[in-house]
Amino acid sequence: MNALHDEPDAVLDVLGIGFGPSNLALAIAVEEHNAQAAPENRIRAGFLERQPSFGWHRGMLIEDATMQVSFLKDLVTMRNPTSDFSFLCFLRERGRMVDFLNAKTLFPLRIEFHEYFEWAAARVAHLVDYSDEVVSVDPVTGPDGEVRWLDVVSRVPGEPGRTVTRRARNISVAVGLEPHLPPETALSDRIWHNSELVPRVRELNASGGGDAVGRVLVLGAGQSGAEALDYLHRSFPEAEICAIFAKYGYTPADDSPFANRIFDPEAVDVYFRSTPEVKQSLVDYHRSTNYSVVDMDLIESLYATMYREKVQGRERLQLRNVSRIRDVRGFDDHLEVTVEYLPTGEREVISADLLVHATGYRPRDLDTLLGRTAKLCLRDDKDAVRVGRDHRVELTPDVTAGIYLQGATEHTHGLTSTLLSTTAVRSGEILESLIAHRASDLAVSAG
Ligand SMILES: Cc1cc2nc3c(=O)[nH]c(=O)nc-3n(C[C@H](O)[C@H](O)[C@H](O)COP(=O)(O)OP(=O)(O)OC[C@H]3O[C@@H](n4cnc5c(N)ncnc54)[C@H](O)[C@@H]3O)c2cc1C
Repeated sequence: MNALHDEPDAVLDVLGIGFGPSNLALAIAVEEHNAQAAPENRIRAGFLERQPSFGWHRGMLIEDATMQVSFLKDLVTMRNPTSDFSFLCFLRERGRMVDFLNAKTLFPLRIEFHEYFEWAAARVAHLVDYSDEVVSVDPVTGPDGEVRWLDVVSRVPGEPGRTVTRRARNISVAVGLEPHLPPETALSDRIWHNSELVPRVRELNASGGGDAVGRVLVLGAGQSGAEALDYLHRSFPEAEICAIFAKYGYTPADDSPFANRIFDPEAVDVYFRSTPEVKQSLVDYHRSTNYSVVDMDLIESLYATMYREKVQGRERLQLRNVSRIRDVRGFDDHLEVTVEYLPTGEREVISADLLVHATGYRPRDLDTLLGRTAKLCLRDDKDAVRVGRDHRVELTPDVTAGIYLQGATEHTHGLTSTLLSTTAVRSGEILESLIAHRASDLAVSAG
């Protein structure tokens, strides 16, 4: 049944906004619950995604890039190890189980995990509308004065100005992160964010423009910056590829076993219970598990390439460390980028064909997305939205509708929030909360 189409006017129990891995995991949890629940206990769910089809960071699907999380932290296994939505079941269906085993790794290729996500998304396609961008969420008041429902308003693709509204008891907001750029940066054919790297390079090479690329600058010292450097170096075999960053060298990602426990489901409980000071210190201590760090293998491989080129006398891979970009000027056929060497303040204007910003991602602005509904969310003393352990936003007392947040909860649920580590477990927690709230709503209306 397609809850979004078969009964378009029916109120949904939960409407997911965004259909990346977080809400995909929730869709599967709902599907598995419904498969064994009595009809009256089934959850009526739907999901809206603005992309035309499922896509997980497509712009960074570099052929040989691997996952930074074990395949056992897939969409389901940590919640339900017997689920047939697991990565292993996907491998079995593709006839690759034994071959994957022989590769002796916990970390599949990113392109393979994307294929797994697509396979899982296709199996719950009846719950999703693609090409559907949510623009606002309006509170709807019942006869008793309580805000009981939320009207989710989205754009109709190809029909400017026309919108469609769907009503739900709860929404699950999982809209992910958006590319971050330095202030006043304007993207162009020569200035990119790494989130569009792979299609941009393919396009350029397909049009023959790749042969004319003589120098590319890559700004940033994190995983995406290092991956972009490596990929560009291979993609433009005649060009100089130069990394620019303020650090002295790349910092390795801490994926050692004890530090990795910060991504355990139990660590979410510890973080959630902590005072703001302890929360901050946990993030500071363990920042190097995720932020501005690079996998050691990639660091070593980049260094080996640089050294080999030094030996060979043709240094295509270059590094401008302890440096910052101060100015970028675009001309018809090139860019002029002013780079400052921080220890001396010396500035140099470098001519380049392309500049790639690997400058990270930031949470999307929820207030804009939620519109009038944002005013119903309670805030802490830093103006951050207050969120319960069950990922349900704390709302003003006159609201019985629910908002679940996935991703934008680092301040309440810790470092795993934006990652895949606890996606499966979190979707189970949200499902349990939805079921519990529905039961108490029914008890109130019966009483
Ligand atoms: C290149 C890259 C590699 C990564 N690799 C890993 C990894 O190996 N391990 C790990 O743990 N984490 C990794 N991450 C972190 C990443 O955040 C998670 O993997 C994952 O994407 C989080 O899933 P999500 O569903 O919360 O968000 P997203 O995957 O960002 O999905 C959000 C979805 O919401 C949609 N959307 C946004 N706004 C709207 C709207 N208004 N209406 C409708 N739809 C909307 C977007 O189109 C998108 O499809 C990586 C991140 C990047 C950028």
